[in-house]
Amino acid sequence: MITRDQLATLLDRLVEKNKVIAPVSDNRGVVRYTAIRTAGDVAWEFDRAKVPPKSHFLPQTEELYCYDTTGGELRIEPVPAAGRAVVFGVHPCDLRAIAALDPVFDGVFKDVYYLDKRERTVVVGLACKQVLPGCFCRSYGIEPTDGEGADLMLTEVGDRYYAEILTPKGEALVREFPELFSDGGVEEGRRGKEALSRELAGQFQREVDLTGVKEKVDTMFEHPYWQEVARKCIGCGICTYLCPTCHCFDIIENHSGHRGSRLRCWDSCMFTDFTLHTSSHNPRSTKKERVRNRFLHKLSYHNERYGLAGCVGCGRCVAECPVNIDITKIIADIKEVD
Ligand code: SF4
Ligand code: SF4
Repeated sequence: MITRDQLATLLDRLVEKNKVIAPVSDNRGVVRYTAIRTAGDVAWEFDRAKVPPKSHFLPQTEELYCYDTTGGELRIEPVPAAGRAVVFGVHPCDLRAIAALDPVFDGVFKDVYYLDKRERTVVVGLACKQVLPGCFCRSYGIEPTDGEGADLMLTEVGDRYYAEILTPKGEALVREFPELFSDGGVEEGRRGKEALSRELAGQFQREVDLTGVKEKVDTMFEHPYWQEVARKCIGCGICTYLCPTCHCFDIIENHSGHRGSRLRCWDSCMFTDFTLHTSSHNPRSTKKERVRNRFLHKLSYHNERYGLAGCVGCGRCVAECPVNIDITKIIADIKEVD
C-alpha cells in the first residue's frame, strides 16, 4: 500500500533521475501525458486523458537523427541515448492499447525508436475511478481495474493506493523506495479493489456485441453502407490522432543551411494525401475509402495481423468526433445491414 503523499514523494524522487510522464492538465483543461517536473504537476483527479500515453512511445513529433553537411561531408548525429522513463497513471484500456501497438513495432521490421522507449520505460497503471458515458472497454474483455500490461498497478482505496507488483520492472521500482510502500492493509486493499470493480461494472452505459463482427465486416468491402458513414465525416483525423492504438506516421525533413533533421510525425489514414503516390495515383481518393479503411482496420485488419483487437473501447473517438460518428453504432449497424 502507498498513501497519496507517499506517491507524490515517489514521483518527486523519481523525477530527480528519470523522465516521469504523467497526466497533466493544460490551461484549457486538456489532459495529456506530459513530462512532469514535480508531483504538483499531476492532474490527480483526471478521468480519461484526451491524448493517450501512446504519445510517449510514439511521440506526435520525434527527432530520429540530425545531420550536418558542412564542408561537403555528411555527418549523422544520432539522438543521444536516454535513461529510464516512468509513465504514471495509465488506465486499463490504454494498457491494452500499448499491447496492441507492440507487435506493430516489433514485427518483421524492428522499430528501434519505439522499442528503445518500451525497453527503458516502467509503466505504472492506475485503475479507473469512474466509467465515462463513451467507455465500452468491457466489450473487449477489459475491466476498469485490470492491471494487465502494467509493471506496477495502483488502485485508489480510501486514502491509500493498493499497489500490485506485476513484473520485474515494477518490483525493481518498489525495491528502490521500500520506505514509501507498506505491507500493512494489503487485504483491505484487495477487498477495496474488488468492491470498486463491482461498482464500476454497474456504471457502463455502452456495450457492444462483437460476435460475428469481423466475419461480417470482411464481406462488406464494397457495401454502400460506407458511403453513408462517409457523408457525415469531415476528415479532421481527430479520431485517429486520439486513438490509443492508431500508429500511422510520416517522415519529414527539417533542413536549414548545412544542418537538418529527420522527423517522424503522426499522420492519419483519414487525410486525403495519406495514400497519395508520387505518380499522383491515390488508392483511397474518396472519403468513403478512407472511412472504410479506418473501420476495417479497427474491426478486422489489426486482429488478423496481430491477433489483438485494434480497438480497446476507450471511447475517445466517440467523445471527440465533431460530427458524432460513433464506432459502437457502426458495430451495431454492421450486424444489421444486409
Ligand atoms: S473524428 Fe469524425 S469527422 Fe473527424 S475524421 Fe474521424 S470520423 Fe471523420
Ligand atoms: S477506435 Fe475509438 S474507442 Fe476504439 S480504441 Fe480507438 S479511440 Fe478508443
